[in-house]
Amino acid sequence: MANIAFIGLGNMGGPMAINLVKAGHQVCVFDLSASAVEQVVAQGATTKTTASDCVKNAEFIISMLPAGKHVDGVYLSPETGLINHIAKGSVVIDSSTIDAGTSQKVAKALAKQGINFVDAPVSGGVGGAVAGTLSFMVGGSEQEFSQVEPILNAMGKNIFHAGNHGAGQIAKVCNNMLLSVLMVGTSEALQLGLANGLDAKVLSNIMSKSSGSNWTLDVYNPCPDVMGNVPSSNDYQGGFMVDLMAKDLGLAMDTAVASQSSTPMGALARSLYAMHAGSGNGAKDFSSIFNLFNKK
Ligand code: NAD
Repeated sequence: MANIAFIGLGNMGGPMAINLVKAGHQVCVFDLSASAVEQVVAQGATTKTTASDCVKNAEFIISMLPAGKHVDGVYLSPETGLINHIAKGSVVIDSSTIDAGTSQKVAKALAKQGINFVDAPVSGGVGGAVAGTLSFMVGGSEQEFSQVEPILNAMGKNIFHAGNHGAGQIAKVCNNMLLSVLMVGTSEALQLGLANGLDAKVLSNIMSKSSGSNWTLDVYNPCPDVMGNVPSSNDYQGGFMVDLMAKDLGLAMDTAVASQSSTPMGALARSLYAMHAGSGNGAKDFSSIFNLFNKK
């Protein structure tokens, strides 16, 4: 069992840290929010007054932070950066969804101090974090991947090696861009059927067994009351927030611009999600884009 420091105990990080404790690891946790720390300590983790105290004896340091600026600051800040406190030979696992450029910058700076790094963003949402069934998309060397795989197994079901540093982040934005396009397409198809007198359950069943079948239709139907246990049947509460999808689509567009890639469907989905977020839907689940196409 390993000594692990876990920084960032929000909706995702909290349950991920608890799964590491359940797997028998020694986990020292830190967050700016005292109540977030308390919840994980109540499940058997320890804590220290600063993040730097937590990482000193850790073999693995895992972070689950909102955006690139937080990851950059936590590791590389000239005043408080953990880079000055992490032991040589330790491995940093950053599971935040951020731009690949920041992941590569942090990886390079840590490598100069003899510290290994992988970017390991996740898919599977809060439900997957709680159940320990996340998918991890890992960017790092073969050796770094084999070091982190056993640790990630305590929090996830599918652990993929995407390529070198930054590749995990690229895989994550490609996946979420595709997911957004599928969600928009499924939503407009269902609304078209409804506007022409079809029953949403009947149409969903037909399309999910025909060539239009896709993940959003099969397990995350955006039309209320077609499926139980999905956000659309719970007033679009829980699940994956519109604001987070809009953030990920922004990262996808930055990635497309940097590589001069053509992503017209992703660009349209980004605009639709930005508009939807701007109309006061940012905290709802991303399947609420269904309402954008409601003729009523
Ligand atoms: P969150 O806002 O719930 O949690 C972030 C946590 O980081 C907060 O508790 C905050 O206090 C803490 N934090 C911020 N700055 C800190 C610092 N300097 N030191 C210590 N703690 C600090 O966010 P979340 O939903 O848990 O998402 C985390 C990351 O995972 C994001 O990058 C997000 O895009 C990604 N993600 C989220 C989901 C999801 O469904 N929520 C799914 C996949 C990926």
